[in-house]
Amino acid sequence: MTTSTDSELDLLSITLAEGRRKLLDGEITSQQLTQTFLDRIAATDDQVKAFVTVTAEAALEQAAEADNLLSQGDATAQLTGLPIGLKDVLMTSGVRTTAGSRMLDSLIPPYDATVVGRLRDAGAISLGKLNMDEFAMGSSTEHSAWFPTANPWDLERVPGGSSGGSAAAVAAQQCIATLGSDTGGSIRQPASFCGVVGLKPTYGRVSRYGLIAFASSLDQIGPFTHTVEDAALLLQAIAGPDPLDSTCYDEPVPDFSAQLDRGLDGLKVAAPQEFFGDGMDDDVASTIETALDLLAANGAIIDRTPSMPSVPMALPVYYILAPSECSANLARFDGVKYGYGARGGESMWADMEASRKHGFGREVKRRILLGAYALSAGYYDAYYLQAQKVRTLIRREFDRVFAQHDVIVAPTAPTVAFKQGEITDPYQMYLNDIYTIPANIAGLPAISVPGGFGADGMPVGLQFVGQRLGETTLLGIANAYEQLAQWPTVPPGNVGST
Ligand code: GLN
Repeated sequence: MTTSTDSELDLLSITLAEGRRKLLDGEITSQQLTQTFLDRIAATDDQVKAFVTVTAEAALEQAAEADNLLSQGDATAQLTGLPIGLKDVLMTSGVRTTAGSRMLDSLIPPYDATVVGRLRDAGAISLGKLNMDEFAMGSSTEHSAWFPTANPWDLERVPGGSSGGSAAAVAAQQCIATLGSDTGGSIRQPASFCGVVGLKPTYGRVSRYGLIAFASSLDQIGPFTHTVEDAALLLQAIAGPDPLDSTCYDEPVPDFSAQLDRGLDGLKVAAPQEFFGDGMDDDVASTIETALDLLAANGAIIDRTPSMPSVPMALPVYYILAPSECSANLARFDGVKYGYGARGGESMWADMEASRKHGFGREVKRRILLGAYALSAGYYDAYYLQAQKVRTLIRREFDRVFAQHDVIVAPTAPTVAFKQGEITDPYQMYLNDIYTIPANIAGLPAISVPGGFGADGMPVGLQFVGQRLGETTLLGIANAYEQLAQWPTVPPGNVGST
């Protein structure tokens, strides 16, 4: 295997913001940058397995076009020539899109997701599609129908999930940044496990058009990056109203970078007890305490008194609502309209049954069954309706805390990345999202930033939850912490060169 030269390594550790400056200054070209990342993918992805599809040829063509614009001084689009990657749940015109499922093994979409079109308009170059748990259901990327992805910090561990490929690709320096999706934690938990930044925007901030739906009232697309500054840049490119998604806020998009220098002075930070409860590993708890001390020592006022008694209900509420919505969303995969289709059975019904039996994996089937049960006549009131009521209570508790505080701080996940194959019990897997799900239930923006290291030198994520549409403030606070802590976002050594 080839080892990288110093200048290649410099390019690999570039951020979007630095890349933009270097491209504009003519210090580097987009073709050089894109080739460097493609070489990196070739050298490391046998081990990391972040990519389902690499679109090298298209990427190099786009890079050549970007270089033309740059040389003519026409590169006004903010991400011109910068290579990124996309979770394989986002529709990409002409490029295979599988959502990690055999059901979509051969799907070549005829259109782009809104975010994909916006990134192209912003000049970004897609290097390909990233691995994920099937239909975004999972916390380890082990539920991908194709292969598990490895954690670049320790290849025997999981990268988290469901956007494990998107997180691993940033930590392994295969892309400068990537997009993922977060229904119950699928951006923040893998960001925590892989030691990078992951942002779930406010529900409705980013269009979901062309995002293969899991649970439509919870799903949201967001960035993985090395820095909070880059998260703001990527969000800027994808956010905003979309006539193709009626759940998108019809509000002008603010400047998400406006408060990056705000600092922490006088900031009111709530640390509600329910986010620091049982089930958190000691190494995570002590790492988070150290992070809170750093915030306090730099002007933030940490208030541990708020209590949010309904928050522990968020996980059970999620496991009623998300499966219910998924059972409806995944009903379209019947083997007739598109995707995998069994043929030659006794009847149309037999073919549909066979298509769903072979097309879906175990976890997806489990969720569909759970959801169909919760929605069935006789159980609807007891489960689905009850869960909706508790959802309202949880939202109100967040509103109460935000009436007195600027931001909520919490761990992202209760543990560091676990070993591949270690968790086989689905319920134990579900507990990974105990601290991330509340923000989805309430539709609030939340970010995971590197917060230090726990057992075996594995990364620990620190989570900030912001007010509805409060991304600018949230990013400012997260950036202030990042600047103070300066944790590395890339594992020591050079993944794939040994
Ligand atoms: N791990 C959670 C689940 O399995 C969350 C998934 C997600 O956010 N897409 O449902």
